[in-house]
Amino acid sequence: MGVRMAAVAVLILISLTALSNSVAVGGGGQNETKVAPPKIDFTRYITYEELNATLQAFQSYYSDILSVEVIGKTWGWNATSGAYDTPRDIYVVKISDNVGVEENEPGIFINWHHAREWLGPMLILYLMQSLVENYTTNDTIHWIVDHFQIYLVPMTNADGYVFDGDGNRSQVVGSGWRKNCRDNDGSGSLDTYVDFWGDIHGEGVDFERNWDWDWASGDSNPDSDTYHGPAPFSEPETQAERDFILNHSINAYMVVHSFHGSVLIPWGNASANTPHDAFYRSLASNITKRTMIEGSPTSTYQYGRPDEVIGYTAPGGSFDWVYGVHNIIGIAVELEPTWSNAPDAFTGFHPDETKILTYIHDFYEGLMYFIEASDVTLTPKEQGAAQPLPYIIYGHVTDSTGAPLAGENVTVEVLSNGLTLNVTTDVNGFYMVNLANVRHVIGDTVRISAAGVSQDITVDSAGRKEVNLVSGVVPEVNPTMVVVLLAFMAVLIRRL
Ligand SMILES: [Zn+2]
Repeated sequence: MGVRMAAVAVLILISLTALSNSVAVGGGGQNETKVAPPKIDFTRYITYEELNATLQAFQSYYSDILSVEVIGKTWGWNATSGAYDTPRDIYVVKISDNVGVEENEPGIFINWHHAREWLGPMLILYLMQSLVENYTTNDTIHWIVDHFQIYLVPMTNADGYVFDGDGNRSQVVGSGWRKNCRDNDGSGSLDTYVDFWGDIHGEGVDFERNWDWDWASGDSNPDSDTYHGPAPFSEPETQAERDFILNHSINAYMVVHSFHGSVLIPWGNASANTPHDAFYRSLASNITKRTMIEGSPTSTYQYGRPDEVIGYTAPGGSFDWVYGVHNIIGIAVELEPTWSNAPDAFTGFHPDETKILTYIHDFYEGLMYFIEASDVTLTPKEQGAAQPLPYIIYGHVTDSTGAPLAGENVTVEVLSNGLTLNVTTDVNGFYMVNLANVRHVIGDTVRISAAGVSQDITVDSAGRKEVNLVSGVVPEVNPTMVVVLLAFMAVLIRRL
């Protein structure tokens, strides 16, 4: 009997082993002949020329997933002579797998507009470096790069940035320069003046008033800091961005500003909610909840429409245009410091170099959430407000020894309505799904199943949940196999 029972046990073990999967893992690698670009220095502000060199070096080394394209030129204000003879390139950095191909993947466009708001280019460069450096080692980033087409415009307003000191704080006049360097009166030079408080103003056009959305309501005084320009899209810089957006499939748009510490949603030009207000507020709320991960323990980022959060409306704004005209998810962020934490406007726009990384880190997880949550397409506005919440579920599927299970099917089921999503784990056993693709509400129970195990979670307001599954804890039982085994045992027992 002992021998027979042992035989049965062996059979059961063989059956169970056959039920679990084991897939070999293959890895890719960098081209060893290339030289890695130097790390970007986030303890100081970059110059425009350094930015050019940095983008070229990154493109050269990370050519599999990063490409650089010139989408237009600035007016070309010359920092030495003051003439208009040095048009500067406006770059778009694309980051994606199969980077040379326009794929059927959600496009995300992140850019920067106001010359003195120096944290914007640094944040965008930080994102660029983080995505490519961690592509092979960080599963979430790997998924993002594979799943999206990310377009970064770190320095749309290159003329204005150079005029404002080109990264050197000691060169800034007063609280700094905001607009581009358009020669409004055609005199051949950029005419400026310094006001009673020591702040500099003058010619140029405000990029955040120049877009064709309620443009006519904007500021028509050419010397004003918020001058909307002689016509919608009068500026080569805003034309370049407009044309790029029109020629690519863009799902979501974020323009980076500073300083205030807030996430701004449309409408920017009016004290009115959009048809997608519930969606926008949930998105912005989840972004702000992810801020200050490495900074203050409690987020001080606010969110809402500009009139609610910063106290004024802004006609002709870029995020209103992308959303209002093209139904693209459009938001703006005002990076830190908060107004109350800035000793003065100069410091608010050009924080001390020691603060650059702190402020980037504070917003970075919110930025990552914005990207993850942009895996949705807004319903047409005329169909009303219905729009699924972004809710990200991600994690690893491993066997009982901790080894990743690649190619494993993961089923995510909303139990209240039976809607399901299926995804497959990557070579690291990683999966990520966005519940925005199915109908769900906060409080729903969601079951995540893979490799014979499952776990239930409750959708909450956090917007993101990590669920790791370990195969072998509760092996899936194949009913047919059970019947076969029971019959076999019955035969054995009868013979005893
Ligand atoms: Zn701004």
